[in-house]
Amino acid sequence: MRLDRVAGKKVGIVGAARSGVAAARLLRRHGASVFVSDSRSEDQLADALKTLRSENIEFETSGNTARAFEGRDFVVVSPGVPPDAPVSKQIDAAGVPVISEIELGFWLCDGNMVAITGSNGKTTTTTVTGEIFKQSGVPTFVAGNIGSPFCDICDQVPAHGWVVLEISSAQLERCYDFKPRIASVLNLTPDHLDRYGDFATYAEMKMRIGENQTATDAFVANRDDAYLMELCSPLPGKKFYFSISDIVAPGVCVENGMLTSNVEGDARVIMPVTDITLPGPHNLQNCAAAAAIAAIAGVSDDSIRAVLSTFAGVEHRLEGCGAVGHVKFINDSKATNVDSVWYALQSVAGKLVVIMGGRDKKGDFGRLRDLVSRYVSEIVLIGEASDKIERSLGDLVPTHKVDSMEKAVRIGFELARPEGTVMLSPACASFDMFNDYEHRGRVFKQAVSKLREEAP
Ligand code: ADP
Repeated sequence: MRLDRVAGKKVGIVGAARSGVAAARLLRRHGASVFVSDSRSEDQLADALKTLRSENIEFETSGNTARAFEGRDFVVVSPGVPPDAPVSKQIDAAGVPVISEIELGFWLCDGNMVAITGSNGKTTTTTVTGEIFKQSGVPTFVAGNIGSPFCDICDQVPAHGWVVLEISSAQLERCYDFKPRIASVLNLTPDHLDRYGDFATYAEMKMRIGENQTATDAFVANRDDAYLMELCSPLPGKKFYFSISDIVAPGVCVENGMLTSNVEGDARVIMPVTDITLPGPHNLQNCAAAAAIAAIAGVSDDSIRAVLSTFAGVEHRLEGCGAVGHVKFINDSKATNVDSVWYALQSVAGKLVVIMGGRDKKGDFGRLRDLVSRYVSEIVLIGEASDKIERSLGDLVPTHKVDSMEKAVRIGFELARPEGTVMLSPACASFDMFNDYEHRGRVFKQAVSKLREEAP
């Protein structure tokens, strides 16, 4: 722990979301004086302010004044505040160092760290990896972009324990010394172009996860992603790979239908891929990545096998929601980009009625044309991107525009009868109609429940 970096320091925190509040409390615990600043109103921040007040942490709301950064030793900026936001520019102009909450957590953590990023599959892979570590009996924490902020738990991880971190590209923007023992980039596909402008800038940001590693650290990369392979080659960590289409070493791959580990030059079968519970080729990649990370950390194949053969999945990711009559419903609300839908369409058997739409993230829906022709019978459209999706795919299958999730579920049900599947897999963000993708998924599930209650 680098307590010298925080004890007695004056620190500003911009953004009072969960990670900002966690950073404030951590700093306070370790002897820093903290001031939190958020542009939202007191009403919007009610829960956060309750916590800050109970710990006597000073704050301002409804705007960021110079108090947030003037005279501060450093400022922790929330990942929700883009680098070109006025407050970010003011802090930079004042010459005050800015770090992310992940960097701060790293300073105050004695444990071993796994850090997982990528365009898709982060939460699933992080959760599966955490479960495998826990299964092996080693003290394990799961944190970051998922569940608890890193700063909530970083100072509780023992030196022999592990923390498995899900890391977003925004969290890497202000990392400087962050150096995980094992880093993994799962894949790179265009996402968050609204924040980064172009794919190369976004991809480079992701690769920062490995830039401070040394040859004794491990970098785990997806061998099936050519662009990722090119970008990771100059990184200093020892490279390990995972693949579902090639034999790779050192790493984990699929060989003759068997998930096979070859991390230390001793190829061993872990299990038949048919025993893996999570559906779809994308989840096989996620499981291969988790197995590689676990094997590198010295976790036994038994622990890997035990988790991969029982893991039930994460909410809002191809989540089965039961049936109404003989029509099945699947909630894939977390499919917020085109690539996720590309995988989802290949993961479910039979013809699908797909509910798509929401706030467009500059997605190229045309990429789905081949799979839509093969696996989709009808598309139900909601939200702002409806017209754009209709222009891209509407000549292939019938499209139906509706203005609420409840109507989408009802019409989806009618179209899928007597025994098809209705899947919410939007390929878009949710913010035009919902608070977030979780809210969207819950509204979908409620509409399915309502339909079930009404069904004869
Ligand atoms: P993330 O945390 O990166 O957003 P999740 O594990 O939450 O990823 O999965 C979100 C969605 O992304 C899933 O519903 C699925 O459709 C898709 N997905 C998951 N894993 C992958 C992968 N390895 N490659 C491509 N798409 C994936």
